[in-house]
Amino acid sequence: MNIDIKVLDQLLDTATESFSNDEIPVSAAILNSKTNELIAFAGNNRQKECNVLGHAEINCILQAEKYIKDWRLDGFYMIVTMEPCDMCSMIIKESRLDKVYYFLPKKSLSTIDISLNKEQLSTYEEYKEKFNKLLTAFFDKMRWKPLFLWYNNPWEVFVWVIRFYIENIDQIHLIV
Ligand SMILES: [Zn+2]
Repeated sequence: MNIDIKVLDQLLDTATESFSNDEIPVSAAILNSKTNELIAFAGNNRQKECNVLGHAEINCILQAEKYIKDWRLDGFYMIVTMEPCDMCSMIIKESRLDKVYYFLPKKSLSTIDISLNKEQLSTYEEYKEKFNKLLTAFFDKMRWKPLFLWYNNPWEVFVWVIRFYIENIDQIHLIV
């Protein structure tokens, strides 16, 4: 499986942009199975659009269908940075895409059995590592986000401490 370096870089750029926008850093591309022409490209926008369907794979499919003016995507394949979730797998199957190539295995277990023509890419280790680093950094960022928000707003921390003191003055006096 040969992927144009431009497509790989674009996948990386889109995933990095998603990371900066607090979206899960996953990106997807759809290409012509015969000519390898890139026809659609997308990242996640679930948070921004407040849309449960805003996964990279679904955004990419919608773009591709609009581009070729057909909801059937046979004759095209998808490259995605992470193995599609159950929701996306169903949509991919319905869209008739020929095949899905992915870099990283998904973290959640499948709850439904979808026989999807998919294959994990065993090459492009350098990119695989970068996609993985972005995902790990994203989940770390989400875990520590409240702390970062505090750190970035010392005034808010001060107000919170004062409010906490006033609201709990009785208990504090009992302890001190
Ligand atoms: Zn998904």
